[in-house]
Amino acid sequence: MPLHFSCTMCGRCCHGLRLPLSLAESLTWIENGGSVEVFCEAIPWPEEPAADNGLAWHKRKRSFLAASGSLPVRVIVTLVASFSGACPNLREDMGCGIYERRPTACRVYPAEVNPFISVDPAIKLCPPEAWQQREVLQNDDGTWADPVVAAAVVRRREDDYEEAMAKGDLCARLGITEAGLSNEGTVVYSPAPAHLREALEATLAARATTGTEHAPPWTLVSHRLRTMWLLESAGARATQSVDLAEGRRFVAFVDA
Ligand code: SF4
Ligand code: SF4
Repeated sequence: MPLHFSCTMCGRCCHGLRLPLSLAESLTWIENGGSVEVFCEAIPWPEEPAADNGLAWHKRKRSFLAASGSLPVRVIVTLVASFSGACPNLREDMGCGIYERRPTACRVYPAEVNPFISVDPAIKLCPPEAWQQREVLQNDDGTWADPVVAAAVVRRREDDYEEAMAKGDLCARLGITEAGLSNEGTVVYSPAPAHLREALEATLAARATTGTEHAPPWTLVSHRLRTMWLLESAGARATQSVDLAEGRRFVAFVDA
């Protein structure tokens, strides 16, 4: 069955957001007065996955290789525009004030960038009537019916893949060396906008294509003592989330 959807312009998806941005979009967002945070998570990567493990290869493409102690890890860095109320670009009529140049992620919603995640209307912000329209969002075969959405999904995914190494360079410039254990949580850095802008400009100018040589030793952060013990016994450098220094915080995906 195709998935039916049509935007009702309710504006809910433009409130209280964490909007993933590319490097260039992050720079533009800061230049326009917004703030961008850096989310870091790491996956222990002792060996390469099997050729048919599509999800693992998707994660590999989104990450750069680094090390935590003697444990090889892959680090996924996401640049995020966060705001608790309405997006600063949202107009009173719930239209987007920068519609033609809005970030790619805004063109995707409520579709999914990750090819291994299905669209679940129950967890989307769109009202029930948005899913009862005649227009088709996703065809039977999983393709996106709207060419704008289809192009945005591809663009967002390619940005993630193509910028993974450059984000390792960005972290080195910002002195970022801590990451949450993927699936448990993420470490969120909130650099001063001027500092992040400078680092983004240098990163975009350099466009690093390799990650390892830029990657300092990483520390894995957890809110679970048992996880810390397991990480340390595997040779990793680990620390508790409560010990994080100022300017960074741990956001848990699962309860302690
Ligand atoms: S940039 Fe526009 S579309 Fe994106 S969240 Fe803000 S108001 Fe909504
Ligand atoms: S929440 Fe859904 S229906 Fe409402 S504006 Fe966003 S995409 Fe449209």
